[in-house]
Amino acid sequence: MTQSLRIALLPGDGIGKEVVAVGKALLEAIRARRGLSLELVELDLGADRFLRDGATFPEADQRMVRDECDAVLLGAIGDPRVPSLDYARDILFGLRFGLDLYCNVRPVVCLADSLMPLRDKTASHCNMVVFRENTEGVYVNIGGNFKKGTPDEVAINEDVNTRKGVERVIRAAFQYAVTHGRKRVHMSDKSNAMPYAHGLWQRVFKEVAAEHPQLECKHVYVDALCLQMVRAPESYDVIVTNNLFGDIVTDLGAALQGGLGMAASANVRPDDARWTSVKARCRGLFEPVHGSAPDIAGKDLANPLATVLTVGMMLSHLGVEGVEAQLTQLVRDAVAAGMTTRDLGGDKTTSEVGRWVIDRV
Ligand code: ATP
Repeated sequence: MTQSLRIALLPGDGIGKEVVAVGKALLEAIRARRGLSLELVELDLGADRFLRDGATFPEADQRMVRDECDAVLLGAIGDPRVPSLDYARDILFGLRFGLDLYCNVRPVVCLADSLMPLRDKTASHCNMVVFRENTEGVYVNIGGNFKKGTPDEVAINEDVNTRKGVERVIRAAFQYAVTHGRKRVHMSDKSNAMPYAHGLWQRVFKEVAAEHPQLECKHVYVDALCLQMVRAPESYDVIVTNNLFGDIVTDLGAALQGGLGMAASANVRPDDARWTSVKARCRGLFEPVHGSAPDIAGKDLANPLATVLTVGMMLSHLGVEGVEAQLTQLVRDAVAAGMTTRDLGGDKTTSEVGRWVIDRV
């Protein structure tokens, strides 16, 4: 990796600011240690900005991210002072849809036996990756209310599934399985209740599975998946699913990892002209799975380890080798040393945990 990298930091709201502060210091330490050519630019977006001047995601910022940055490290967006989610939608969907980041990749990996909540299971039983479709489904915000507020009200949210959208995320999941030596790919849907939309998922999955005879390819209804993830998480290697189900099952997955403070994620657009017409320098948006957690915001209580893992995923995606493995090991070490925040049973602050990891980079 010789090119210079430019990363946009988007701390956002609530604990997003605290965990991205750790992410920033971590990136600076990695830059110093490895002599990386790495520039960090901070984006002033989120509830504070919206309340100050009404801006959500100005065009100039969108252009800068798309054309002048390689990736975005996001904390979280969401603030109780702004009940309407329109500003959050502008920022998050502006990035995901605008950059066509159609794969939301969420490793569900338990890094320490002490974090595993299931009786008779150890960390080794939980090592899967969920590919969540990230640009379609119920998140397209198509629908409406008829006779709103009356006893006859009708409320509709459309669930959009396109052939291209389904095929490209399924292919990305298979590609990941092949390149990462995974043996099994599960596709999860609810095709018994949603035969048209999820029938499409079934057909495409079968077609792509037929091209990979070396892999074990199975379908699992999403209700059965939830049951089985708790009973036998070791059944899964790679799971591909739609936008809504991916959101839900990865929160369940986070519980298997030790909580939301341990779950990392990447929103990426595998570069392939067949599947995307977007041409952008920016290759991904990387974020811890958790939200802005207003209940603990500003108290130095947030667990920054999901962000540490997310920084590792981001640098791997940008071609920086070795850092992800090192950071993953440091997270294991921090847990083993009891260097953890309250959510993991420890008594350390966000800054203390962050400092501990950064000092060991
Ligand atoms: P959103 O609605 O945007 O998903 P939220 O703030 O309602 O977000 P989350 O932040 O996702 O919900 O998390 C729910 C709760 O889990 C938080 O209120 C907080 O108590 C806890 N939590 C989440 N992330 C962390 C973290 N990094 N460290 C410690 N606790 C966390």
